[in-house]
Formats: sequence, structure tokens, C-alpha cells
Amino acid sequence: MTDAIDPQTAAPGTPPNLASLEAGPKGTASLRSRRLPLAEPAVQIETLDRLDLAAAGGPSDFDRAVAESGCGLLRAGPVEILQINVGKLCNMTCRHCHVDAGPDRGAETMDRATAEACLRALDRLGAGTVDLTGGAPELNPNFRFLVDESIARGAHVIDRCNLTVLLLPRHRELPGWLAERGVEVVCSLPHHRQRNTDAQRGDGAFVKSIEALRRLNAAGYGAGDPERVLTLVTNPAGAVLAGDQCTMENDWKRSLERSHGVRFDRLIALNNLPISRFLDWLATSGNLQAYMELLVASFNPATVSGLMCRSTMSVAWDGTIYDCDFNQMLELPSAGPNGAMNVRDLDVGMLEGRRIVTGRHCFGCTAGAGSSCGGSLESGGR
Ligand code: SF4
Ligand code: SF4
Repeated sequence: MTDAIDPQTAAPGTPPNLASLEAGPKGTASLRSRRLPLAEPAVQIETLDRLDLAAAGGPSDFDRAVAESGCGLLRAGPVEILQINVGKLCNMTCRHCHVDAGPDRGAETMDRATAEACLRALDRLGAGTVDLTGGAPELNPNFRFLVDESIARGAHVIDRCNLTVLLLPRHRELPGWLAERGVEVVCSLPHHRQRNTDAQRGDGAFVKSIEALRRLNAAGYGAGDPERVLTLVTNPAGAVLAGDQCTMENDWKRSLERSHGVRFDRLIALNNLPISRFLDWLATSGNLQAYMELLVASFNPATVSGLMCRSTMSVAWDGTIYDCDFNQMLELPSAGPNGAMNVRDLDVGMLEGRRIVTGRHCFGCTAGAGSSCGGSLESGGR
């Protein structure tokens, strides 16, 4: 990156060095490729379950914490959001990734038949929103098919984009393509400063992200147009809870516009859930016990009614149905009458009222202001 323009000092609008932008950011490597025990979901669950969390002062069993707060059992309501995780392939390998995604995960990619089954499910569920995620969902060959077919069915479509993928040569025109269709682009950007973002996402990630934001702005995103909404997602770099979403949004808007000349519409702040690569970081850095105690001690009953698992059906690359993307990564499928369910033979009547599958990782969603795909929960996720 020696020849890249430093985005901290460059004048707003200065074009960065494009050749340097197209190399993938240098993050970590997937747990799977390093053959670490924590690559296995069962080992992750066991690691959380064996912690003694008595010092946290509240119930360390999630269902009990929910019940004692007067919310009863956690059950699903009508499906409002069909979340489709099209696979674990990604051009990045961020240190906090809850998917353990990376360039080595190309085998776990949704095929056309499963994508078509998702659309049949959408027809029957009538969900208002289709949320496309990954990995980098744009790398799936069925991405544009899913966008177009979901829009044809009247759904609002969200593309969970890592920004840097927009710099790959084959995706150069993607911002304009998404803008023409009114797709909401929800982009991960850990921080508005280079050092903090690169620490999580790899050297060079910030420079590439700023260039991608410029391209989205040029396509009409980030200017308050409800048909071209640009949302940024931030999560803390360390073993702390997400900060106040509204305060951060104002700071970020000022900083990104002043330093880099880029705009966005809204910011959502998420807690890191203690799974996958973030769990590995917690364990190896000696922060696991304290972070789990923080999550349990910060349980906020006001967040329970807005938990995304109550209104989401999350489909994995192989069609298996989960209550959320985090359960997907822990291989905890939704509980159907005969065990796991698959979108290819979905009985939609089995979804509403099902008991949500939970674990200690769930405390990440209820800590502090709460956390969901739509942002903090106390503020209604905005
Ligand atoms: S956090 Fe997102 S961009 Fe980073 S490796 Fe995971 S899926 Fe890819
Ligand atoms: S991790 Fe998933 S199942 Fe658990 S509370 Fe969060 S959204 Fe619900």
C-alpha cells in the first residue's frame, strides 16, 4: 500500500490509486483454514457453556434471563424479513467475522435450485424485506437473480455489502445497478478512522472502503433519497458494548464528509456476538470471561420484543432454516416438528409461534441498547 493516497490527509474527492485498491485487504485467515478447534460450532458452544458466569449477577441461562424479565418464552412471530445467506465466500478475512468467511470458503455457496426455493418461500410468506448476506453476497452467481426476482415480488431488498467487493473489476458497475433497482446497501465499516478499521478488517481496508463509498455516492446513494439508502454498520474493536448509535451517527457523518467527502444516510451500531473469529480473539486475548460477564450483566429486558429472530427466517447456503444468522454459524437450526427444516420443502405453517433456539451467545443481542441487523433495539432499530 505504499503508493496509495492516505485518506486521512487527502483532500475530499481525491481519487485513490486504483491498482492498489483491487488487491484484497490483508486481514487474518479463517479459523477453518488454520484448522483451529474453534472452527467447529460445537466447540464454540461448549466454550461459552463451560464459563462460570455467577459473578455477572444475573441468570447466565438466556431463556431464564428472558423468563425472569417477564417476557416468557422466546417465540417467533410472522416472518417480516427473509434473510438469505448465500454463502461464506468473501474477498476479505476480517478479524471479528462471525461467519468465519474468506476466500477459502467457496465450496459453501448457494446454488440456483436453493435460490429458487427461497423465492418460492418468499411467495408464500409475503415477507416485506429480503436481506441478502454472506460472506460477500455479490460474489454468488445468483446474487443479481435474487435481487431482481425479489423486487419483482414487491420486496424491499437489502444488500449487506463489505464495500471492498465493489472495487473488483467485475463489480465496477454494481453501484449503478443497485441504485437503478432501489436496493438498500448496508455496508460494514468498523470506524471512520483508518487505524481502527484496518485493525479489524486488514491493512488497506479503509482506503478501499472510502473509494467504494465514493462510487456509491456517485450512483446517488447517501443523499437522503429513500430509493438509494446507504447504511453503515459499526461494531466495537474490543471487548466492549457498542456505543450510542445516534451520537456516533452524527460524529461519523461529520468526520467522513469533512475528511473524505463521502456521505451516508444512517449508522447502525452492533455488539459483537461471542462466536467464530471474535470468540477466538476473546479467548486468545484473555477477554472472554470479562466480556461474557459484561453481556450477562448488561441484559436489558427492553430489547427482547425487538429481537430479530422474532420476525426473521434465516436461510443458509444449503437451504437449512435458522432463527438468525448467528444461530446459522453455530449450526443451531430452527426447531421444526421433525427437527431441522429446509427451504426446499418448507411448511410455512411451522414457522410462526416456533420456539426460538437460544444459547449464551444470545446475550450479545440483549446487552445494553441491544443489537440486531437493524441496529440497536432500544431506539427501535430505526
Ligand atoms: S466480516 Fe463480512 S467482509 Fe469481513 S470476512 Fe466476514 S463476511 Fe467478509
Ligand atoms: S443470537 Fe439469534 S436467536 Fe439469539 S437472541 Fe440474537 S437473534 Fe435471537
